[in-house]
Amino acid sequence: MGQDLFAIMTSNAEGGEGDAGNTGSWRVERPVINMALCTPAKKQKASCHLCWLYCPDGVISKDLEPEIIMEYCKGCGICAEECPTNAIEMVAESEFVEE
Ligand code: SF4
Ligand code: SF4
Repeated sequence: MGQDLFAIMTSNAEGGEGDAGNTGSWRVERPVINMALCTPAKKQKASCHLCWLYCPDGVISKDLEPEIIMEYCKGCGICAEECPTNAIEMVAESEFVEE
């Protein structure tokens, strides 16, 4: 198998910094995954991973318990829209500001 074909047939399972890099402080909402509703986490089997597939910045890992790299997440909400079990909730950044 040629190297180019191999590159097409495999995928990076790690979240990365995406094309846009560090998000900074402008994000309004962030995604929070409820692992009790997440199919691969619940079944402990590789499945679904639509959040990983659709994240435009590639910041979600393809693990049994998907991890989102908040440093690079843009808060677009696509992962929450695409999650078939509504396991991802977009939560206002103000909820995470320390008093
Ligand atoms: S799309 Fe939802 S159910 Fe599927 S892996 Fe992501 S969080 Fe879990
Ligand atoms: S909110 Fe957008 S950038 Fe952040 S993890 Fe979800 S799809 Fe990716």
